[in-house]
Amino acid sequence: MASLSSASTKLTSVQKGRIQVLKEGSPPLKNGPVVYWMFRDQRLKDNWALIHAVDQANKANVPLAVAFNLFDQFLGAKARQLGFMLKGLHQLQKCLEDAQIPFFLFQGVAEETIPKFLGECKASLLITDFSPLRQIRKCKEEICKRVSDSVTIHEVDAHNIVPIWVASGKLEYGARTIRGKINKLLPEYLIDFPTLQPPNKKWDAMNQPIDWDSLIANVLRNGAEVPEIEWCKPGETAAMEVLMGNKDGFLTKRLKSYSTDRNNPLKPRALSCLSPYLHFGQISAQRCALEARGFRKLYAQAVDTFLEELIVRRELADNFCYYQPNYDTIQGAWEWAQKTLMDHASDKREHTYTVEQLEKAQTADPLWNASQLEMVHYGKMHGFMRMYWAKKILEWTMGPKEAIEICIYLNDKYSIDGRDPNGYVGCMWSICGVHDQGWRERPVFGKIRYMNYAGCKRKFDVDGYIAYIKRLVAEMKKRKAESLVGQKTKQQRSE
Ligand SMILES: Cc1cc2nc3c(=O)[nH]c(=O)nc-3n(C[C@H](O)[C@H](O)[C@H](O)COP(=O)(O)OP(=O)(O)OC[C@H]3O[C@@H](n4cnc5c(N)ncnc54)[C@H](O)[C@@H]3O)c2cc1C
Repeated sequence: MASLSSASTKLTSVQKGRIQVLKEGSPPLKNGPVVYWMFRDQRLKDNWALIHAVDQANKANVPLAVAFNLFDQFLGAKARQLGFMLKGLHQLQKCLEDAQIPFFLFQGVAEETIPKFLGECKASLLITDFSPLRQIRKCKEEICKRVSDSVTIHEVDAHNIVPIWVASGKLEYGARTIRGKINKLLPEYLIDFPTLQPPNKKWDAMNQPIDWDSLIANVLRNGAEVPEIEWCKPGETAAMEVLMGNKDGFLTKRLKSYSTDRNNPLKPRALSCLSPYLHFGQISAQRCALEARGFRKLYAQAVDTFLEELIVRRELADNFCYYQPNYDTIQGAWEWAQKTLMDHASDKREHTYTVEQLEKAQTADPLWNASQLEMVHYGKMHGFMRMYWAKKILEWTMGPKEAIEICIYLNDKYSIDGRDPNGYVGCMWSICGVHDQGWRERPVFGKIRYMNYAGCKRKFDVDGYIAYIKRLVAEMKKRKAESLVGQKTKQQRSE
C-alpha cells in the first residue's frame, strides 16, 4: 500500500498521512468523475473522506457522487441497527443534495455494485473510508481487482483522529504502548476541519429516486426479532444534540460527573451515549474531541478521562482489528492468555448455560440477567456491566472458544453499537485478556482478570440496578404494546 505523493495532495486540505493509495490507475484516467463509496463514516460534516473527494473532484474539474451499498446481510444486523442506519442515511441524502452532491444507494454485494457503478459513470477515482473489519477489507481487495486498470482508489481514515497506520505500524500491546504515540501526533491531527467546498462541476445523469419508506419497512420487517429503540434518534443533528445540546447534551449538561460516575451502572447519564453515533459515523470522534477540549478549563479531569476513552481506547481497538487478523477468536489472544485459557478450559464450572438460556437471561445470577435484559430491550448495556457480563459468559460456558463466540453473537445482535472494533476488543479484553495483563491464577479464568458479584456489590448498589432494569424493561414493553395498538388502530381506520 502506498501513501499519497505530495503532487496529488496539492490543493487538498486532507493530510497526506490520512490517505492510502489502494490502487494506482495505470494509465490513470483523468477526466472521469470521483465516487466516494461511503461505508463507515455516514455523515456530511467533519468527514475527511468526503473533503478529500470534493478536493479531488474540484482539482480535476469533474463531478462527484457518494455511493452507499446496503448489504443483503451484514454480520447479522437486525431492525434495531439497520433502521437506525437507514434513517440516518435518509437524512444524509437530503444534506448531500443540498450540498449539490448526488447520493446513490445500491443493494447487494458491494464487490459487484461498486465496480459496476464506476464502469457505468466512467469514474477515474474511487475514494473509500477506512474500516479495519476483515469483511470490508476483503471487499476492497476484490473491488481493486474488478475495476478497470485506469481507476485509482484512495482510502481515507476518516474515523480515527490519528490515522491508524500513522499512529502505529504494528499490533500494540495495550493502552500504555499506544498512548504516547497517539498523544505525540495529536497536535498534527487534532485540528479543525476546513469548510466543505461545493463541487465545481455538476453530476449530469439523474440518480434513481430511493424509496426510503419501503426500504426501511423492509429491514424493519425482516429484522423484527430485534426491534428498533426509541430513545436514540438517528442522524447527524441528533448526534450533535447528544454531544452539545442545550437540553441534555453530554458536554453541556452531563460532563461534570463523567470521571466520578461513569462506572456506576445506576447512573447511565454520566456516560456520553455517543457510541451509536460514533459506530455509524454519524458524528466524528475528532469533532467530539475538539468540542470536549473546550470544556477542559471547567472540568479537566472529566475531559481527560473522556478523551482517554474516546481517543486512546477507541483507536487502540482499531489498531487491534487492523493488525490482528484473528481479532474475534482465541487465536487473537497473546500466547500467555491462550495458554492459561486452554490450561483451564476443562475446569469444572459451577453453572453452565446454553446460548438460549443466556439469551433469555435465565441464569441464577440476577445481576447478569438484568444486564442481559438491558441490552436486549434497551439496546445498550452500561459500559461497566459489559465487562462483568462478558466475563460471566467465560465462567458459564464450555470453554473460551465457545465463550467468545457467544459473547460476540449476543453483543452484535442486540447492541445498537455492535459489530464495532470496540465490541470485538471489549469481548476479547474480557475473555482473552487482550490489552490487559495476567492476574493471580484461579480456576476457569486462569490468569485472566476475574470479576464477581461481591466485587460489584462493593462498587455500586446492585439491587438498585436490578430494580432499575426491571422498571426500564416494564416501561419499554408497555410503550411497545401501546405503539402496536396505535398502529393497528391507524391501519383499521385506513381500511
Ligand atoms: C464486552 C464488551 C462489549 C463492548 N461492545 C461494544 C460495542 O459493541 N460497541 C462499542 O462502541 N463499544 C463497545 N464496548 C466498549 C465500551 O463499553 C463502549 O464503547 C461504551 O460503553 C459506549 O458507551 P458510551 O458512548 O456512553 O461511552 P463513553 O464512556 O461516554 O465513551 C465515549 C466513547 O469512547 C469510546 N470508548 C469508551 N469505552 C471504550 C472502551 N472500553 N474501548 C474502546 N472504546 C471505548 C467509545 O467510542 C465511546 O462511545 C464494549 C466493551 C465490552 C467490555
